[in-house]
Amino acid sequence: MKKTVLIIYSILCLISQTLTAQKIAPSKKAIFIILDGISSDALEKVYTPNLDDISKAGGYTRAYVGGEKGTHTETPTISAVGYNSLLTGTWVHKHNVWGNSIKNPNYNYWNLFRVIENYDSTLQTAIYSTWLDNRTKLIGEGIKDAGNIKLDYAFDGFEHDTIRFPHDKGNAYISKIDEHVSKEAERHITKNGPDLSWVYLEFTDDMGHMFGDSPQFHEAIKSADKQVGRIWNALKLRQEKFNEDWMIVVTTDHGRKKEDGKGHGGQSDRERATWIVTNQPTNSYFNNTPGVVDIMPSILNHLKIEMSKVQTNEIDGTSFINPISISNLHLQKVNKQIKLTWKSYGKNRKVKVYVSTTNNFKTGGKDTYKKVGSANSSDEIASFKVDKLPSEFYKIVLKTKLNSLNKWIVIEK
Ligand SMILES: [Zn+2]
Repeated sequence: MKKTVLIIYSILCLISQTLTAQKIAPSKKAIFIILDGISSDALEKVYTPNLDDISKAGGYTRAYVGGEKGTHTETPTISAVGYNSLLTGTWVHKHNVWGNSIKNPNYNYWNLFRVIENYDSTLQTAIYSTWLDNRTKLIGEGIKDAGNIKLDYAFDGFEHDTIRFPHDKGNAYISKIDEHVSKEAERHITKNGPDLSWVYLEFTDDMGHMFGDSPQFHEAIKSADKQVGRIWNALKLRQEKFNEDWMIVVTTDHGRKKEDGKGHGGQSDRERATWIVTNQPTNSYFNNTPGVVDIMPSILNHLKIEMSKVQTNEIDGTSFINPISISNLHLQKVNKQIKLTWKSYGKNRKVKVYVSTTNNFKTGGKDTYKKVGSANSSDEIASFKVDKLPSEFYKIVLKTKLNSLNKWIVIEK
């Protein structure tokens, strides 16, 4: 009898321990905010206490958009192009959104929302946005080729509601919509805490275009900071009340023209110069000028969600929160050899090098990779013979235990 009681008691203890353990692991949540068209120098000039507060918890870094200048990854410093680089973790040579008209996105490169909806459709997704196309065209909600996904909550499209938000020459209506959107984001997140959400605010870019480097532009940055603060407070509240671990990433989609701060779209340093703020602890790659494409893999790391290996092979970004072994891959074809250089982190690890001469992924097909050799991560340099693989196109993937990198060689005739 005594023995039975002891067994029951032990079982109860085990159950209670398991329950406590479950309670300890907080649920992972992520939100990213795009504040349109603020070059890093402009942001650094203006007092932004809320962004400062977030970066105190994690970090602030200068970052870049525009791909690798002068190569096939070079990407216009245009809004929708930048948003899609963030969403897909790839540059324009893959995602194929070249301008704000979003003509022909290549949905074979999955966006963040599609990845997480596919991983677990019970995860809650939300968008709060001053531009409708972000949901309907870039995420491609309800579009078959984009995976026919549906976000759980959308608060957008107000730029088309000319009764509530009559359009005016000074674009004050956009400022009002940003207020409206950020207040709803605060309310909805406080109440529901979606697993992945996107806030997009536009007014800063409008003031940049109209007035360039000016008090108006700087005031708009201050207002955007207040709007971010609203959302940041909601996250802090949720972290206090619920067992949740939030990652917030705030960034911009492009810088501004050097001369007057008005336009953008080109490849000047100032147009490419962006920034990233996050509350999560970062790895040392974060301070090595990350790109907008690095945000997607970082958010997936935080959410502990992995894509398929085939998809991971295509991501141009590198996580700035998890430990990594390698970054900044550069390739060069010299005679019959491919020369590789990269930057290494942490302890020496084995790097396996794979090559494919096809690019069927682009059209929804499969590529066959051939292992051409291996190297030590700390060497930061290697070369491999490809004389048996004659081609004008090489897709290279470097794999280590912690992360992988990829790049193409396109030989121009
Ligand atoms: Zn923009």
